[in-house]
Amino acid sequence: KANRKFHADDTVVDVLGQKIGGGHFAVMAGPCSVESESQILEIAKNIMQSGANFLRGGAFKPRTSPYAFQGLEGSGIDLLLKCKKKYGIPIVTEIMGISDIPLFEDVDIIQVGARNMQNFRLLKELGHLKQPILLKRGLANTIEELLMSAEYIMSGGNENVILCERGIRTFETYTRNTFDLSAIPMIKRLSHLPVIADPSHAAGLDWLVEPLAKAAVAAGADGLMIEVHNDPSHALSDGKQSLTPSRFTEVMEVLKNYIKLE
Ligand code: PEP
Ligand code: MN
Repeated sequence: KANRKFHADDTVVDVLGQKIGGGHFAVMAGPCSVESESQILEIAKNIMQSGANFLRGGAFKPRTSPYAFQGLEGSGIDLLLKCKKKYGIPIVTEIMGISDIPLFEDVDIIQVGARNMQNFRLLKELGHLKQPILLKRGLANTIEELLMSAEYIMSGGNENVILCERGIRTFETYTRNTFDLSAIPMIKRLSHLPVIADPSHAAGLDWLVEPLAKAAVAAGADGLMIEVHNDPSHALSDGKQSLTPSRFTEVMEVLKNYIKLE
């Protein structure tokens, strides 16, 4: 179902009138974790002013350590919904388990994180939902495996899948992950699904986000996911790779020379 051979035209995912794919570019921005009402409202306002068209924020956080901040869970989703209501911006947030699905009823795009890319039972359940699924490439998964995971969702009836290159594990340690730039044109050749890039998790460092974002655009990405935090040095997760709102505005000004935002 994801194969370009049987579906030549690009899939365009439409969420509250915001389109992704087929020449429509999307920018999803926001904090790694939703931390408080004031934090998420302020970031939402800032990223919208800079031209982002989706608010991303984690409520359920798949942290490496069980002692690290695990997210506000259901109340984090409530705070994202508050932003959606106040500003009219569609929201993207990660799901970690099947039993949480009812909490995602009003979430516009449901993210499956790298660590759950091959949680096949979760993927099957998401195949029965109506919302688009943002499927991130696993830490050490091939493009073929990513496309097969998309098939798990699509074969259940939900054909609105957006794929995301977010860097893969290699022997290099200067970056958090190695951004696999070639995955973008490769996936677009193999599949009609929209492909976005996440330079924040690929790099792990704020100053690398701009060059990687530009590279992703040049390689044909249909969108970007960028972490933005109002106070990165005190962020409860991924502060090192988060842009301040003013830095995000500067990066967006550069990107607007190459992309057309709606
Ligand atoms: C995230 O988007 O905050 C996240 C946890 O990303 P990934 O699953 O790509 O590591
Ligand atoms: Mn993060």
